[in-house]
Amino acid sequence: MRCGDNVGPEMQGLAGTFEMSDRHPPWREASTATRGQAGWLPLVKSQPHRGFTLIELLVVVTVIAILLAILVSSLRKARETARRVVCIGHLRQLQIAWLTYAENHDGAIVSGMPFYHIYEKLPDEPSWLSCVHYGDHSSKARVNALMRTGALARYVGDVSVYRCPSQYELPQMPGWEPWLRWFSAYAIVSSMNCLTPEQRAAAEAQFVEFRGPSPVRAYIKKLSELSPPGPAQRMVFVDVGCPYWTMQGPADFYMMAGPSTRQRGWTTFGHGPPLQHGNGTCTSFADGSVRYWKWKDPRTIAWSQAWLQLYQAGQTGPRPEPPPDPDNRDYSEFYKAIWGRF
Ligand SMILES: [Zn+2]
Repeated sequence: MRCGDNVGPEMQGLAGTFEMSDRHPPWREASTATRGQAGWLPLVKSQPHRGFTLIELLVVVTVIAILLAILVSSLRKARETARRVVCIGHLRQLQIAWLTYAENHDGAIVSGMPFYHIYEKLPDEPSWLSCVHYGDHSSKARVNALMRTGALARYVGDVSVYRCPSQYELPQMPGWEPWLRWFSAYAIVSSMNCLTPEQRAAAEAQFVEFRGPSPVRAYIKKLSELSPPGPAQRMVFVDVGCPYWTMQGPADFYMMAGPSTRQRGWTTFGHGPPLQHGNGTCTSFADGSVRYWKWKDPRTIAWSQAWLQLYQAGQTGPRPEPPPDPDNRDYSEFYKAIWGRF
C-alpha cells in the first residue's frame, strides 16, 4: 500500500517519498527514516469526496426557509410590540398633560377639537393640538412649529410625542392635504369638550331623545362631570392610526358612532376602527390610565381591514358595509367608554 492512495492530490507529492507496509506503521517509518522531511502527514486520511444529493439540498433549503419565516415573523411582532410600548408612553404623557391642564383651569378640560374648519369657532378655547388648518405647512419643521402652539404644548412640547410610531402611511387622495402626513394620529373623543356650546346643547338633547334620560353626562366640560360612571370609565385619547383621519374631527365622529345615532351600530361615515397595533389601538382614560384596546370580534377586524385596503389602494369608495352590530362587543364597549353608557 502506498501512502498516497487515500490522500488528496496536494499531498500525493509528499506521500510519494514514503514506502509503507502493514508491518511498519507510518509513525515508525517517520521516526526512523524521514522525520523532519514530511512531518506526520501520512497519518491523515480523508473520506472520498461526496456532494449533497438533491434531496439533502432541498431539505436544507426548506429548513432554512422555515427558520427565516419564523424569525421574520418574530421580529415583526417584536418591533410592533416595541412601537406599542412607545405609543402607550406617548398617550400617558398626553393624558397627564390633559389632567394638568384641567387642574390649572379650575377643573375645566381642554378643547378636544383638532383644527377642522367646521369646528374652528371655539372662542377663548384653544384646541389641545392647535388649530393648524391655516398656516405655513411647507415643511415638517413648519408643521411642528404650528403643533407647538396647541394648548397642551405647554406641558408636552416634544412634537414627536404627538405621533404614533405605527401610524399609517397612506397614499395621497383627493382632499388630503400633503402636510397632514406630519400631523398627529392621536385624537380626543368627541364627548370630551369637542363641540361649540350650541352644538353641544343640540347633541345633548338628541342623546336624551334617542337613548333616554340618564345621570351620565354625554358631553364633559369639567372634571367634576365625569361621575357617574367615574373618570376610570371615560376615554379621552385614542390613537386613530392615521393623521389623515384626525383632520376629520374627533376620533369617534367619523370612525364610530355619534351619540345621537338612532340605531346602535358602527357608522359607515368615516373609516373602520384602527388596527395599527396588532388588530388593536391604544387609548387613555380620564383617571390617567392608558390601555391597549384590542378588537375582539372578527367581524370588526374584517370590516376595518376592508377599509384599510381601500385606502391603501388610494380609493375612497364604495365604502365597506359595517358588520351586524347588536351583539358586537367591540362596538358596545367602545361606545360605552366614549359616552359613559350604552
Ligand atoms: Zn399608536
